[in-house]
Amino acid sequence: NKREEKAFNPLVKEFVNLSFHGMRAGKSPINVEIEFQLDPEVGKISLISEDFSRVILNLSNNAFDAMREKLKSSESGRYIPKLTVKTSKLKDKVALSIEDNGPGIPDQIKDKILQPFFTTKKGTEGTGLGLSITHDIVKAHGGELKVESQESTGSAFTIQIPIT
Ligand code: ADP
Ligand code: MG
Repeated sequence: NKREEKAFNPLVKEFVNLSFHGMRAGKSPINVEIEFQLDPEVGKISLISEDFSRVILNLSNNAFDAMREKLKSSESGRYIPKLTVKTSKLKDKVALSIEDNGPGIPDQIKDKILQPFFTTKKGTEGTGLGLSITHDIVKAHGGELKVESQESTGSAFTIQIPIT
């Protein structure tokens, strides 16, 4: 597991799509509109790609799970799950955000979701480790993870990592 220079946008696209296809091949597939807004200015980033791909998978998997829950409790045809994946080049950083239009994160649990083993998923569906591992990997890359969520609009997980 070594750091390497890796083209960022193709990595993001590959692992969001991998998460989507895995979800679609699984037990309760849902349709999701996925929109990529990938900044062409984002070039290569120094990262541990095996670890960073895990970050993209974890965030995408969580988004699909959340939107599946919202779909279950909404009138048929009234709700169209949508994932928006954005990258942008900042001065000496790149940002990645993965936004869903799912149920959002209730205020009471917002400060707990990064803790290891915290999950709201039933039975064996969730280990509660995804976000904790994600946070660790982002920190190991010298970056930050920010969570924004509203019950009306959904959740956005944004990562910023330094370019070098
Ligand atoms: P797990 O997915 O195994 O439950 P995570 O650490 O990945 O564990 O996530 C912890 C909890 O954070 C989830 O159980 C869920 O309650 C909440 N969560 C994470 N991502 C989202 C999201 N996109 N929308 C709503 N809730 C989320
Ligand atoms: Mg998870």
